[in-house]
Amino acid sequence: MQRVDKSNAEWRIQLDPKRYAVLREAATEAPFSGMLDRNHADGSYRCGACGAELFSSKAKFESGSGWPSFFEPADATHVELVEDRSHGMIRTEAVCAACKSHLGHVFEDGPEPTGQRYCINSLALDFVEHPTT
Ligand code: FE
Repeated sequence: MQRVDKSNAEWRIQLDPKRYAVLREAATEAPFSGMLDRNHADGSYRCGACGAELFSSKAKFESGSGWPSFFEPADATHVELVEDRSHGMIRTEAVCAACKSHLGHVFEDGPEPTGQRYCINSLALDFVEHPTT
């Protein structure tokens, strides 16, 4: 996919401070604080920084975690997985493959068919409502 390369100064102009903190500094929003956790509409979840299509409503499920949760990305090449050793844990970070913005983390306790749980910050996503097939 098309790479999006912007400086931190450019991202700061484009993104409000809360979104900048999550997308560009890997902050985590408080659970149950986001607008998309309980969104059940059909459509696409896009990168809040660059607009890349990241997740479909078809892969969204209720994890009870307080963050939007998906069992797979819309396209495996659109979400990159990176080892994250911050905060004394070894986790798998999910970043946008196009602009490298932080999205959330991936855990192995998700539902079928993948068993994966993409635990994603609402602030990292823009939802576009449309019918899904
Ligand atoms: Fe992006």
